[in-house]
Amino acid sequence: MVIILQNNASEKQIEDIKSHLVDYGFQIHESRGVQKTILGAIGVQPDFDIRKIRILDGVADVYRITVPYKLASRDFKNDNTVIKINDVEIGGNKIILMAGPCSIESESQIFKLAEIVAKTGTKILRGGAFKPRTSPYSFQGLGEDGLKLMRAAADEYNLIVITEVMQINQIDVIEKYTDIFQIGARNMQNFGLLKELGATHKPVMLKRGLSATIEETLMSAEYILSSGNPNVMLCERGIRTFETYTRNTFDVSAIPVVHKKSHLPIVADPSHATGYRDQVPPIARAAVAAGADGLIIEIHDNPEKALSDGPQALLPQTYINLVDELKAIAKIVNREIG
Ligand code: PEP
Ligand code: MN
Repeated sequence: MVIILQNNASEKQIEDIKSHLVDYGFQIHESRGVQKTILGAIGVQPDFDIRKIRILDGVADVYRITVPYKLASRDFKNDNTVIKINDVEIGGNKIILMAGPCSIESESQIFKLAEIVAKTGTKILRGGAFKPRTSPYSFQGLGEDGLKLMRAAADEYNLIVITEVMQINQIDVIEKYTDIFQIGARNMQNFGLLKELGATHKPVMLKRGLSATIEETLMSAEYILSSGNPNVMLCERGIRTFETYTRNTFDVSAIPVVHKKSHLPIVADPSHATGYRDQVPPIARAAVAAGADGLIIEIHDNPEKALSDGPQALLPQTYINLVDELKAIAKIVNREIG
């Protein structure tokens, strides 16, 4: 931790700050310039609240030079985490595609879409059975009946299943049908849920919160990792900004930042990031170019009638064409679409 003192900090204030640092157990390195005095505090633990120093008289600013997450950091584990599910590896050289409807709506819908997903070589079928809708009056999902339909469709076409878990009491039932748990943006900081998922044995895809920083997202991953589950992937799904022409703002820079700071794979969700069908392919292409380890994309065969997120769902043919484009881009960045 680096503490920059105010130019006019008195000797008494400096001594007082130093004695606080000693009380907190830090070693001190002092650097006195003509105008500025800077203190370096050594031995800061990840959970130390630096505001305790920022509020002291004579302090101008405080910076943490270590990160607050441990298990999620590249320093802790240098090799990329590769999550294996059947014959699929997420976090390896292949960019793994996940596609399907926002919500599972009926047997014919999920079977039709699973067939398209499989036809494109996509390995993972997405679909929500418990939906986190902004309005309690909107379609809330088919629950366990939906999970049964998706599992049957996935088994028919040899696909892996990813679906969202919204609350702790859904974990057991969802675990029976899914291969990957999805934590939605609205639950990124539901720490009780994160801890419970840390105690399960299935991989977890953690979506970035609506207004969460990358560091906060990694701290949430830390909850799952520290509870015993090493198979965590992150998902950039756009963050809330002042822009209104898109549903969210896709933070493409989160992809290289996560790769630098963490060993965990990162998946991009251009559907929720943009909210509009015409914006999904360009952002999907950008995500592959930026190094995403996977993509999760909403598709629907009749988006006008979709029970949720129709405007952002790609028509099957658009998805089929997009997969071909993604293959070409992947090649340029020395990767493959898996
Ligand atoms: C979803 O993937 O269906 C979803 C609700 O996404 P998010 O949590 O990113 O809004
Ligand atoms: Mn959706």
